[in-house]
Amino acid sequence: MLTSLSGAQIRETFLRFFESQGHKRLGSASLVPEDPTVLLTIAGMLPFKPIFLGQREPDFPRATTSQKCIRTNDIENVGRTNRHHTFFEMLGNFSFGDYFKKEAIQWAWELVTKEFGVPPERLVVSVFEEDDEAEAIWRDVVGVSPQRIIRMGATDNFWESGPTGPCGPCSEIYFDFKPESGDASIDLEDDERFLEIYNLVFMEKNKDAHGRLTELPKKNIDTGMGLERMAQVLQQVDNNYETDLLFPIVHKASVLAGIEYKTATETQKRAMKVIGDHMRAVVHLIADGVTPSNLKRGYVLRRLLRRAIRYGRQLGITGSFTPVLAQIVIDGASDVYPHLVQKQNWIMQNLQLEERQFGQTLERGERLLQEVMARHTDSKIISGQDAFDLYTTYGFPVELTLEIAGEQGFTVDLAECERLIAEFNQSSSGEEFALDLTKAAQGELTGIEQTKFIGYEHLTAPAKVLAMLGLPESSSLKQVEAGQEIQVILDQSPFYAESGGQVGDQGYLSGAEVLVRILDVQKQGDIFLHYARVERGILTVGDEVTAQVDSSHRRRSQAHHTATHLLQAALKKVVDENIAQAGSLVAPDRLRFDFNCPRALTEAELHEVETTINQWIVEAHRLDIQVMPLAQAKENGAVANFGDKYGNVVRVIDIPGVSMELCGGTHVGNTVELGLFKIVSESGVAAGIRRIEAVSGMGAFEYLAVRDQVTKTLAQELKVPVEELPQRMVALQVELRQAQKTIEQLKGQMAIFQADGLLSQVEVLNGHKVLVASLGDTDPESLKVAAERLLQKMGAGAVFLGSTPQGKVSLVANFSPEVVATGLQAGKFIGAIAKICGGGGGGRPNFAQAGGKDPDKLAEALTQAKVDLKMHLQFGNQPLKKPIDLE
Ligand code: ATP
Ligand code: MG
Repeated sequence: MLTSLSGAQIRETFLRFFESQGHKRLGSASLVPEDPTVLLTIAGMLPFKPIFLGQREPDFPRATTSQKCIRTNDIENVGRTNRHHTFFEMLGNFSFGDYFKKEAIQWAWELVTKEFGVPPERLVVSVFEEDDEAEAIWRDVVGVSPQRIIRMGATDNFWESGPTGPCGPCSEIYFDFKPESGDASIDLEDDERFLEIYNLVFMEKNKDAHGRLTELPKKNIDTGMGLERMAQVLQQVDNNYETDLLFPIVHKASVLAGIEYKTATETQKRAMKVIGDHMRAVVHLIADGVTPSNLKRGYVLRRLLRRAIRYGRQLGITGSFTPVLAQIVIDGASDVYPHLVQKQNWIMQNLQLEERQFGQTLERGERLLQEVMARHTDSKIISGQDAFDLYTTYGFPVELTLEIAGEQGFTVDLAECERLIAEFNQSSSGEEFALDLTKAAQGELTGIEQTKFIGYEHLTAPAKVLAMLGLPESSSLKQVEAGQEIQVILDQSPFYAESGGQVGDQGYLSGAEVLVRILDVQKQGDIFLHYARVERGILTVGDEVTAQVDSSHRRRSQAHHTATHLLQAALKKVVDENIAQAGSLVAPDRLRFDFNCPRALTEAELHEVETTINQWIVEAHRLDIQVMPLAQAKENGAVANFGDKYGNVVRVIDIPGVSMELCGGTHVGNTVELGLFKIVSESGVAAGIRRIEAVSGMGAFEYLAVRDQVTKTLAQELKVPVEELPQRMVALQVELRQAQKTIEQLKGQMAIFQADGLLSQVEVLNGHKVLVASLGDTDPESLKVAAERLLQKMGAGAVFLGSTPQGKVSLVANFSPEVVATGLQAGKFIGAIAKICGGGGGGRPNFAQAGGKDPDKLAEALTQAKVDLKMHLQFGNQPLKKPIDLE
């Protein structure tokens, strides 16, 4: 009988078992590997790769871990097979030149059969077809029946880490769901019957460049057991998703969708499983420092998250739901991964932002894709161009196009789409130009391996001209004279070549008869290209010159570079420790720092960041710059910038107690050299990416000096001390508003007096005085006063005025009681007239105001008012609904 264990118990049992066999228990490494050439941690052995490759000495001969892994190559299997995830945990035991095959096999068996209690008759093992030794151990030492030991070929059971290097045979343990089928025809590929749970790699050989295998002097063991798979077996559920490790997330998704998991269709179940899987992956990725983007790990994250969102929508889940599920992931995993709780807010913010953004992309993209499909219902083929356009122009992922198209029986010309994308990437990155340059320069550059950079220690140094390339065509030159622009290649150089955001140095090369100005320096591989103009004399290949960096240019740049490090540290301290650099520019006059952050910073935060940095500056921290192995730097807690490539040996810029970063740039010796730090602006550059521009050192002084000059001028003009400028501004604004008000009043009064002139236009109709007139652009308030004044002067009668203030129409009707007594109501009357000018209004029987939008119609409206008044007062008719022709 199998004993049911929770995922946590399985993990703990495994680790404790190997601990009792002398293994050092280590925590899971980050999903972002130290090895910059690998995108994500895909197996338990990855953190130990340098040990297996002999690049690092192990601190202990045996280790055991439960390692978070992400395998994007299994993404299509998720929810389709019972056993594959993108995110899973791999339990492993490792030997670094210590125990080997026999112990590894015996312990694996003991663990599975005794600790986990899996009956031996439910297990089958595989061995590499040439590995007689392993087979003998299974058969003779462990006692597995020979029919249940299956030999497999190199594709399945020979492990290699690359084309060369350590390698060796594997042996796997499979769980048998149908032991009743017997031992006669065992097919391990039959995944209805068998499930691979544990893989043992015997690293015993080394492969050289010719493919020759030799025995490794120190043999290693690397193993992997899928935690979720073991849980499936021990919890006796149908698949990994129904284990306690995943089901709470799957279940929550089903609740949000309002679909019971048990009775859901296969498609619905698959969607729930995908969501369960991907949510674990995205939560752990964000917690390990990845943020959604279109590059590398950021893209993996974005793809998984967007896929989860899409499946959620397919299930009918509405609104923002990934944070809800993320909470379940965090609750379920925080015992083992407590940093998930610390990063909770950060995780949620990133999910919300990405969900919102994708919502917009998705809606638009799906609509466009449906339109494309509607155009090709007969061929049922979506062209590469269409898929490409959806992706590049509308941000709609190609894999979503594939999925949606597939669901509706369409195919996509993927090859063509990929070709277009490759072409697009090349032309938009400017890589072509760089490639051309290399090609043209190649002949000249062969033999030159690298430019030796000596600019950390020296600003002036002797150098030899090894080669020169013409500009812009990059032809090789032997000799150039004054006025020519070229690229110079030196054997060694004190000039810093642009990298890590810091711009290249400027300066001079000088010889007895020659002076060359260096305008910029760029790197081509390990070679520095000095962009130069010959100022005087003749420069010849082979010349010995003195290379001299413009020290002021350099000093100003490096102050900004150190300031960038302080800025990153202050942002982490003040705003969020998860903030990481997303790009930077370090120039002599300013710095620009891009970083991931889902929201704008507040004024208070910016002020605190600035204050913190200036505090660090006056505290005069000395910079400690050291070169050390990458692993050591990471262990010391150095911040590495995402996407940058680092070699095995790195340069660490340590500002003790403040910041520690990997960086190849040049820096000041002490923070006090920065003098001052001032933020110039904070803005958004892309979704989730903010940008700060700032100045430091002389740059800050210059920035402030300009502002100071402006305030001084203002103070002089306004004749107050600088400190009183704000009050003066307020006073001036008040004064200005007051003056505007007075002007308005005066205009109104003028209009009213002007109105007096209208009295001559009064008509008498059937004993009633009537005045209908226009008053230019008089404002509504003055128009009202004018109407009142006119009626007062007339004694009794009907006044109807219109005007066109500020592009609108204003109307007023003022009727004396005698007029009202005839049955005319000002409110109703004006409403009908206002309609003509595209407006409306109303009021009391004797007085009403109205507005309209169409000033061109005012004349027509006034004519109508006159006619209506005439019809009513003179002939006793009701006002007409329709205008009549006066002529
Ligand atoms: P499979 O053939 O089933 O994909 P694999 O040969 O790729 O497995 P390994 O690379 O040997 O697996 O990994 C070691 C162990 O990690 C496996 O025995 C399995 O238990 C687990 N494992 C591997 N891939 C996954 C995955 N995508 N999801 C969950 N567990 C996995
Ligand atoms: Mg696999």
